[in-house]
Amino acid sequence: VRGINKKNKVILMVSVTGLGGFREVGRSAVLVEGKDNLLLDYGLDVQNMGVPTKPNLKLEGAFLSHAHLDHCGILPELYMRGFLGSVYATPATLGLCKLLLEDSLKVQEKRGIKSHFGPHDIEKLEELSQPMGFGKKIQFKNSEVTLFSAGHVPGAASILVETEGKRILYTGDIKFSETELMKRAFDDFRDIDLLICESTYTKKDHPDRGQLKKELLRHVSDVCSNNGIALLPCFAVGRSQEMIQILSELDVPLYLDGMGKKATSIILEHPESLRDPKKLKKAFGKARKIKKHWERFRLLGKPGVVVTTAGMLNGGPISHYIKKLHKKENCSLYISGYQVSGTVGNVLQSTGRYVNEGLDVKPKMQVLFRDWSAHCDRTEILGFIKKISPKKIIFNHGDSCGEFAREVSGMGFEAIAPKNGEKTEV
Ligand SMILES: [Zn+2]
Repeated sequence: VRGINKKNKVILMVSVTGLGGFREVGRSAVLVEGKDNLLLDYGLDVQNMGVPTKPNLKLEGAFLSHAHLDHCGILPELYMRGFLGSVYATPATLGLCKLLLEDSLKVQEKRGIKSHFGPHDIEKLEELSQPMGFGKKIQFKNSEVTLFSAGHVPGAASILVETEGKRILYTGDIKFSETELMKRAFDDFRDIDLLICESTYTKKDHPDRGQLKKELLRHVSDVCSNNGIALLPCFAVGRSQEMIQILSELDVPLYLDGMGKKATSIILEHPESLRDPKKLKKAFGKARKIKKHWERFRLLGKPGVVVTTAGMLNGGPISHYIKKLHKKENCSLYISGYQVSGTVGNVLQSTGRYVNEGLDVKPKMQVLFRDWSAHCDRTEILGFIKKISPKKIIFNHGDSCGEFAREVSGMGFEAIAPKNGEKTEV
């Protein structure tokens, strides 16, 4: 990206463009253009199968903030189109990314959706990817990149790009407060020229996690002492681990089913972002892993608690359990994650009906929705911005980026919410 100033002298510029995930949630992808072109995340809008715009220029490298599909879901497509560079991420993120991509490909196949890449491209990604620890710099010809822990899910990182005298910080998904599972995000940044900040929650604060934990433990104890089973549909990465870690404090049978099993093994191999890896290891040891289908039938007769995928009830073993237990008043379904519009979980939340795989019922089991968000809330975002006081802010990854940018501008910051495809000069 080169411009010519009035004296006809060539000047250099750095710019940032959202290829996806600007003024929306899903398919996150940011292109940093300068002497080096860098891609930050390359995700899939899982619900609508939407993909980002293709970065049609030579990339020096691609960086991945964390292993959720809305950030990594389309990365192998780069290799399908002949990308020969590396994808850089923390070791935990790379391990989890492979697991989720392989699963995503299987799900797409099963649903008859034509995928944007094949198994071979996932292999290529694995082969060429470069693990990077937190705080370690990677050097390109004209830029340096560093990852900082982001507190969102295991392995999650914020990405600092330093290029041509500019410092660009991309938060990725970030959480500034500690959870049962995760350490809090690193937030001590200085001299940031451009902050690209997620804005999933700009209108409200999350409930107190200590209170949520107390209530959950009481709820599961009550269900079990009433001879029932508590079902906890959870995302494989992050929430499954947090839940087994908390529930292992109870003296009731604890089961772990679905992709959370494999994800937990990978996370325990790379524990750098965990608050208490020993506790997670102990909880994982204590949880009975459900591997065969008949084991699911066997556990139904006795009280207990089941942590399983899918977090939004679309697919995964959870549908088996709901089918068997929805008529039982002494059982419960405890939903802890955000339910994206159009998912089975979202329909249940807004209509009270469970509609999935030929079933359309009003469950007799207790159904609870609680906010255990792995994102920062309004107070935390504002606190972060005031702390690091960046020269310019782009809000992305949110449903009200524009509105929030106007509000933050009113506080004296230069804040914007460009559309996808709109170039911002740094
Ligand atoms: Zn995420």
